[in-house]
Amino acid sequence: MINQQMYDLGAEPNKIRELFAYGEARKREIGAQNVYDYSIGNPSVPAPQQVLDAFDELLADDPVVVHEYTQSPGDINVRTKVAEHITTAFGLPAKASHVYMTSGASSAIAITLCAISNPGDEVIVIAPFFPEYRTWTHTAGCTLIEAPALEPSFQPDIEAIEQAITERTSALIINSPNNPVGSVYSEVVLRELSDMLARKEEELGRRIMLIADEPYREIAYGADIPYVPNIYTDTIVCYSFSKSLSLPGERIGYIYVSDRIADADVVFTAVCGAGRALGYICAPVLLQRVVAKCLDVPSDVRAYEENREILTAGLRKLGYEFVEPEGAFYLWVKALEPDAVAFSERAKQYELLLVPSDSFGAKGWVRLSYCIARKTIEDSMPAFKALAESYRS
Ligand code: PLP
Repeated sequence: MINQQMYDLGAEPNKIRELFAYGEARKREIGAQNVYDYSIGNPSVPAPQQVLDAFDELLADDPVVVHEYTQSPGDINVRTKVAEHITTAFGLPAKASHVYMTSGASSAIAITLCAISNPGDEVIVIAPFFPEYRTWTHTAGCTLIEAPALEPSFQPDIEAIEQAITERTSALIINSPNNPVGSVYSEVVLRELSDMLARKEEELGRRIMLIADEPYREIAYGADIPYVPNIYTDTIVCYSFSKSLSLPGERIGYIYVSDRIADADVVFTAVCGAGRALGYICAPVLLQRVVAKCLDVPSDVRAYEENREILTAGLRKLGYEFVEPEGAFYLWVKALEPDAVAFSERAKQYELLLVPSDSFGAKGWVRLSYCIARKTIEDSMPAFKALAESYRS
């Protein structure tokens, strides 16, 4: 016998990867330069030189030590460096004993949800949202509750979130800078959110954990990215180096259980338990030590910023509507018909690969990942023009 829930999950196509796989096949058929692949969020800038130097330095060390197991939550020296970084960068005295190294934000969120929820609880997300939140919430035995973002700003709708909260709510996941929309949550909005959550905690006599999913913290175009634990007490940060250091396939990130949480030690112990239960222990050791040497290395966002300018200027000229992105490397574009799946299918006829909004919990939009070659964006403009014209004729 197999587990039916797991079978269904394995068999269900992930829309982003499905489109990405279609693009790979299409590129083999007609040549990569003829396919405008906006499907996946793979960073298009190389990892900074400091990362490569750190690899070299570490690999020159004792080969036994380089590849050894660490403690389950990670190498204590690495966790200390991460805690020091949080303390200096955000002015929040952080303890190494509240940092858990993970294989990227994916395992960080999966662990966190299992650690702080009980089966039957509810987890609120702001729609549109990263589709895997649904998977990790269900794996923790919880129900996913969607609170739509405010349009056209795509900031959290505090009233909608408040209405979604019940006596079973265990957590709210937020993601700023945001995938898929590119919005950044302002400090004013986060303070309003925090006040409302604190009031609901008091009213319900129950903790509501704020999970700050932060793979794009470093990918912003001038906007201030407030540090959520400084605003709301019951916060757990799920951080990733996938995008900030262009290391998505290397799988490295961390969980930080805010030191402001009254029983942070207890929450952290549950994080360790969930990590153990899920088999997410001892994150890749070489990567732990590489990122510990690169915590202050700035992300190179120039290429993304240039792409953002070219893409938004080009699409604006052609009459497309979209959300002006302040961070991450995604553009949220209004489909030219109500059915985003049909629009994405029609776009394929022009070799444009655009992810329909449905799996992000929204209707009538497509997501464009613009972490691609600048030339692909430039070359894709006639295809966008022809696509728009096909709706006029
Ligand atoms: N959360 C969001 C919003 C993402 O966009 C991604 C990856 O694209 C993840 C989490 C998972 O990131 P990681 O590669 O660190 O597992």
